[in-house]
Amino acid sequence: MACKGSAVRDRLAPHLNTGIMNITDKYERKLRDLRISVTDKCNFRCTYCMPKEIYNSNYKFLKRTEILSFEEIIKLSNIFSSMGVKKIRLTGGEPLLRKNIHVLINYLKDIKNIDDISMTTNGVLLSEKKAVLLKDSGLNRLTVSLDSLDPNKFSTISGSKYSPENVLQGINNARKAGFDNIKINMVIKKNVNHKDIIPMLEKFQGTGCIVRFIEFMDVGNVNLWSKKDVLSLDDILSIISEKYHINSLEKNYSSEVAKRWSYDGGEFGIISSISNPFCGDCSRLRLTAEGKIFTCLFANNSYDIKNLLRTSKSDYDIKQFLTNMWTNRDDKYSENRLSNNNYKIIKKAEMSYIGG
Ligand code: SAM
Ligand code: SF4
Ligand code: SF4
Repeated sequence: MACKGSAVRDRLAPHLNTGIMNITDKYERKLRDLRISVTDKCNFRCTYCMPKEIYNSNYKFLKRTEILSFEEIIKLSNIFSSMGVKKIRLTGGEPLLRKNIHVLINYLKDIKNIDDISMTTNGVLLSEKKAVLLKDSGLNRLTVSLDSLDPNKFSTISGSKYSPENVLQGINNARKAGFDNIKINMVIKKNVNHKDIIPMLEKFQGTGCIVRFIEFMDVGNVNLWSKKDVLSLDDILSIISEKYHINSLEKNYSSEVAKRWSYDGGEFGIISSISNPFCGDCSRLRLTAEGKIFTCLFANNSYDIKNLLRTSKSDYDIKQFLTNMWTNRDDKYSENRLSNNNYKIIKKAEMSYIGG
């Protein structure tokens, strides 16, 4: 990106931050978190996200011109911050595949009212140099995904040439660069990696890293989700409490997605979208790499913001459009799925496209 300095910042978001709006949706939920997918590409082929059978050489990923530029992402982030967004998470696909991502972070961190910038990554591209660049650019927090410490299982689940050692090296590089309280995301599939729960917890015991077990979710259509593959929050807790004394902890903030527990050795979390949905305080909005906005991870329709950006609509018009979108939001997919077994959205966006 060629632009630098406050003049550029002003050009990208003139006069928007002067009155922060606290808009709410149909269920009185505020807009607070923005998840930005910076690419739909990935160097892994996780079975539950981008199965190899679909994401092969015939698959058409987005072209360079189709994805939002850094300028467009910054402009939108400024508008969102003026609507109440305080936290930004960069995701994908694999966000570290996006060239010069640290430059984007450097601009995002200067946006007024954005007090937290985080990233979810599979970790294998976290070289020493990259970790330092990310830290210096202003990235506040890192979440690294790791589903097994067993090389064979890791290879089968991730569908990649990498090993758990590569991810652990990335985590170490991040810690050396100054990232603390790194979160470790582990998606649990029954009879695939549920026996790895205790080894994973023990691997990070006393390190300050917080393991978060994620119930396998029915995002998208290609992962052939079935409820029988889900290990629920209760199941996960009973596995851990067979070995450890655990205590539940308060949420850090109201829209936190993980429930938290302490155990002798630190803290762990569980993200239980299937068995204990958390739609009630969902303040998240998702922006895809190609500039579509989803008001729910499981939505089947989206809003084309790139078209507005590229047809020279004024910031005021774009903000108006987004405000209408949020005030009309009534998504509660996970709660509806729990209360009605037959509740279905037939065609949902894929996780690697919408961003996790
Ligand atoms: N590539 C990065 C990574 O894997 O960390 C970021 C994108 S990935 C889509 C974001 C998160 O979503 C990861 O922690 C991943 O494990 C999780 N995820 C993907 N598909 C999932 C599914 N079907 N159920 C639960 N979590 C899933
Ligand atoms: Fe890639 Fe992340 Fe999806 Fe795995 S979960 S395929 S690493 S985007
Ligand atoms: Fe938010 Fe949709 Fe997930 Fe509910 S199902 S928590 S509304 S993203």
